Amino acid sequence: MTTWIEISATNLKHNIQTFKKIIGEKTILAPAVKGNAYGHGLEICAKIMIKAGTDFLSVFSVEDLERVRKINTKIPILILGYVKLNELKKAITLNPNFVVWNTETLENLGQIAKEQKKEIFIHLKLETGNHRYGIDPENIDKYLKLFRKYPNLKLAGLASHFANVEDTTDHSYAEQQLQKFTNFCDLIEQKGFKVKLKHLSNSAAATLWKKAHFNLVRTGILNYGLWPSQEVFKTINLKPVMTWKTIISQIREIPENEYIGYGCTYKTTRKTKMAVLPIGYYDGYDRKLSNKGCVLIKGKRAKILGRICMNVTMVDITDIKNVKLEDEAVLLGKQGTDEIPAEEMASWANTINYEITTRINEKIERIVV
Ligand SMILES: *Cc1c(COP(=O)(O)O)cnc(C)c1O
Repeated sequence: MTTWIEISATNLKHNIQTFKKIIGEKTILAPAVKGNAYGHGLEICAKIMIKAGTDFLSVFSVEDLERVRKINTKIPILILGYVKLNELKKAITLNPNFVVWNTETLENLGQIAKEQKKEIFIHLKLETGNHRYGIDPENIDKYLKLFRKYPNLKLAGLASHFANVEDTTDHSYAEQQLQKFTNFCDLIEQKGFKVKLKHLSNSAAATLWKKAHFNLVRTGILNYGLWPSQEVFKTINLKPVMTWKTIISQIREIPENEYIGYGCTYKTTRKTKMAVLPIGYYDGYDRKLSNKGCVLIKGKRAKILGRICMNVTMVDITDIKNVKLEDEAVLLGKQGTDEIPAEEMASWANTINYEITTRINEKIERIVV
């Protein structure tokens, strides 16, 4: 194993418990563990979150659901993503809450609920302005009709999703969505449905507004100690959970005026001490970091020289003393007094911290520390 990820159980627990305190006892915390827990490792993180007292988990797919059920049979789980009609039966055996935005899905679930004489919990995804998945108010009667037709379908929740909270400090659009959501929920209740759970907050909204919590929040990135964006006020003390490490697999001296790596994109400007790392874009180490990013070795920054390859990256250690073969290099996280946060790596790769951690190859071992 030449690259691995350390997951701090203490920090993950801290983040969950800090946020649970903020939302209070009446609001359910349903952390998102989609995307392999934002790259942190689904099973590992789900286990720690459950131990830390989370009430619910939000997953993307039936595959995620199966993986969580293998480690815990009881915790309520919300499937955020689409479930194929021919996979609904299998999903039901694992007792999820479904988020639904199609009459086809609802009709199929109704049939199954009737055949199996089993209650199935549904959350309807309401359109409020994100224009991704959603049901428009003028179509709601078609859905409510199916709940009347199939009494075993339980309307357990009403959900929506913000379009523009983390990317701006102007929250007027989000305010409009909040208002539309409230109105839409009222409309459904006026039609005779009492609904227990209402939710539309992701991490950014949940930190900004108490009034957007309703009684469940679907926070994602926050749990991993990362902020949704620069625009979101850092009001809580969050602790990053992930440290991504590798080791040095060769140390060499390269003379002045020599090229390093594919495409001859870097030429040494001095006699250069170089370390080679067995890490590359196959691992999810973004090729856009070529000639741009750096890693930590002995607590100091070592610049990436030339292009990142599939499994190899070269870095400059000329100014770092006493480096030897198999010394640790930190790609993401702390070493000594310095730190490479996911946000900084994201800025090098021209993307967001979400993509940086989520793209890390799932095969890389995650270890709890
Ligand atoms: C991913 C996701 C979230 C969590 O988003 P964060 O910005 O990570 O908090 C919440 N709701 C839905 C529907 C999502 O897909």
